[in-house]
Amino acid sequence: MTARIIDGKAQAEALRKEVAADVARFTAAHGAAPGLAVVLVGEDPASRVYVASKAKQTVEVGMRSFEHRLDASTPEADLLALIARLNADDAVDGILVQLPLPKHVDATKVLDAISPAKDVDGFHVVNVGRLSTGQSCLVPCTPYGSMMLLDATLGKLSGLEAVVVGRSNIVGKPMAQLLLKANCTVTVAHSRTRDLAGVCRRADILVAAVGIPEMVKGDWIKPGATVIDVGINRVPAPEKGAGKTRLVGDVEFASAERVAGAITPVPGGVGPMTIATLLANTLIAAHQRRGLIPPDFFAALDARLFG
Ligand code: NAD
Repeated sequence: MTARIIDGKAQAEALRKEVAADVARFTAAHGAAPGLAVVLVGEDPASRVYVASKAKQTVEVGMRSFEHRLDASTPEADLLALIARLNADDAVDGILVQLPLPKHVDATKVLDAISPAKDVDGFHVVNVGRLSTGQSCLVPCTPYGSMMLLDATLGKLSGLEAVVVGRSNIVGKPMAQLLLKANCTVTVAHSRTRDLAGVCRRADILVAAVGIPEMVKGDWIKPGATVIDVGINRVPAPEKGAGKTRLVGDVEFASAERVAGAITPVPGGVGPMTIATLLANTLIAAHQRRGLIPPDFFAALDARLFG
């Protein structure tokens, strides 16, 4: 068997088109486009690339982008003051603070300072609590995007065995909550899990969010399973030349694609969905903040996944 490749790039493009059409409608109705503020503290090269990409795509779908680049030595109090200003700014519908933050800043304190209504990353404790109690909320982008890929690949997920490897607050835990909400039987595996390969082999849906290059092997995968590889790892690629690198996931793609029914590639799988979902969340926040119902697209998606 050769797995069907889940095309995250195409799915992300379709989502961005959907968002752009609704942004145009929103802007015509309200006289101003939704706005996304992105805050970057420091010079982390990967973060700079992500922030630039987020800003570019925000503008491409017709939204306003507000970038705040702060020095790595910025005191926590100054960052909290900026967030208070963004919370109060009516032009700003979504606020994203790029992680990781410098060590002298308490990331939890900063994330919890963001108004839950503008928390387009879904990391505020109020949104986390709403997600875990099955209430409507802003959902973390990477897990939400992964659910959209599962929707497009499998349709109804109800009753399927899902295994999530990784229990981080930004990927593993919210992914498990979403799969549970979609009526899957969910196992969360992590660094202390015994017989990880055996646990993975039970999965109809296997989500890898670990950060270890190609850790999940083909023989850990149940034949025909759907594999969502969240991992993004840069590894040396001497075959491309001295000092060159390439991106790989947390799943060993070559062996996995021979067993799985469907699999996301890295790059080109979950990654592109993350920014597209951030734009979708900003559009949703722009509606909800004004007491408006978000576009039908999202209600239909929710009904398919969770209904
Ligand atoms: P994290 O380091 O916060 O969490 C990793 C999790 O993996 C932990 O819960 C840990 O218990 C588990 N783990 C570690 N070693 C393990 C082992 N040997 N066996 C089983 N579990 C183990 O990482 P994260 O922020 O959740 O990110 C995970 C991966 O996803 C990274 O590669 C990251 O770059 C990637 N990521 C991708 C996107 C995207 O847009 N595609 C977004 C966020 C993160």
